[in-house]
Amino acid sequence: METNKPNPFEIAQRQLDEAAAILKLDPAVHELLRWPIRELHVSLPVKMDDGTTKVFHGFRVQYNDARGPTKGGLRFHPDETIDTVRALAAWMTWKTAVVDIPLGGGKGGIICNPKEMSAGELERLCRAYVRQVGRIIGLEKDVPAPDVYTTPQMMAWMMDEFSFMQGYNEFGVITGKPLALGGSAGRGDATARGGIYTLREAGKVLGIDLKGATAAVQGYGNAGSFGQSLGEELLGLKTVAVSDSRGGIYSSKGLDYKQVMAFKRETGSVVGFPGADTITNEELLELDVTVLMPSALENVITEANADKIRAKITVELANGPTTPEADHILHDRGVYVIPDFLCNAGGVTVSYFEMVQNAYDYYWDEELVHERLDRKMTTAFHAVHKMATERNVHNRLAAYLVAVNRVAEAVRLRGWA
Ligand code: GLU
Repeated sequence: METNKPNPFEIAQRQLDEAAAILKLDPAVHELLRWPIRELHVSLPVKMDDGTTKVFHGFRVQYNDARGPTKGGLRFHPDETIDTVRALAAWMTWKTAVVDIPLGGGKGGIICNPKEMSAGELERLCRAYVRQVGRIIGLEKDVPAPDVYTTPQMMAWMMDEFSFMQGYNEFGVITGKPLALGGSAGRGDATARGGIYTLREAGKVLGIDLKGATAAVQGYGNAGSFGQSLGEELLGLKTVAVSDSRGGIYSSKGLDYKQVMAFKRETGSVVGFPGADTITNEELLELDVTVLMPSALENVITEANADKIRAKITVELANGPTTPEADHILHDRGVYVIPDFLCNAGGVTVSYFEMVQNAYDYYWDEELVHERLDRKMTTAFHAVHKMATERNVHNRLAAYLVAVNRVAEAVRLRGWA
């Protein structure tokens, strides 16, 4: 465990504090928005394949539900902590507000290493989690979804367990489900697609031609891998480097995403991809490219490397990749940051579409999902860009100003403070 890493929840609170000062937020509203409204810590005994029982620890944090039921993913990670989940739940609150969908923010996490667990063990862990958090989730209360190392199959198991607890099918309790079980068309690549739509808009306002421009993608999970493929398909980007937790690869000629995806599927990593040079994650971040997509975990762009970032635009498909110190350095150096809770809001936006479709039991085609997602992301991008320009603040702070204003208004109108 890395102990000298910044605490993500302290970062989330500091970011809010900065916005609250500019907005002259009422002190009670500010204090309420600094903390989760409620959270549950659970211990989960799971029968392992070798006959032993292992007790896992997990969390569900409901940060703020003033604008609607809390919403946010569930992460399986060996380094998960309550403060990481709190930070992610706070960011979900700002994320749903910035794209203006009628939901609050929440997040869940289980400390585990899914790479070392069998499918049966993972299924039992998912079901054990729902038996505990089942009392606080539900389509009117809090709706989980996939995140780091969780999949549509896991969402299906959790929906199934919850439905048995209720005594009837409640598909809308969880999003990111497989299509056969109430999933939405277009949810699979929605996080990256939304980010690429915001990048397209950034290109327009900055006057940067993205066709043929170079890109580097840090992290090759759901967000990063689709970031590469959609960056090429929708904008004509040329991705010269990608990485995952084991390291990175670089080729000045560009990397064929179909081949890289197939290689990763086969070998478990992008490292060793034929014809490419091996680079470290750190080297990837500092490459001389037009677009950098941090698409893995928190705190990768910090005061230690922010002055070495050479990209013109960073597309934050990950949550929390940039620290507040780094934000100021990047802003001063003219790097255009598309901040996480704006940039990666496409996932939760299509999750919201999934909830709507589940409620009506009537399903949209992919084209309609893309069109509605595009409208949401484009509107949110321009609201943030306008705020940044008018107030002369960096983009993350501008996104906070837009989002916190909306949540604070709901809090006030409800008479909470
Ligand atoms: N885990 C994703 C996020 O961080 C998606 C959340 C959702 O779909 O509810 O935005």
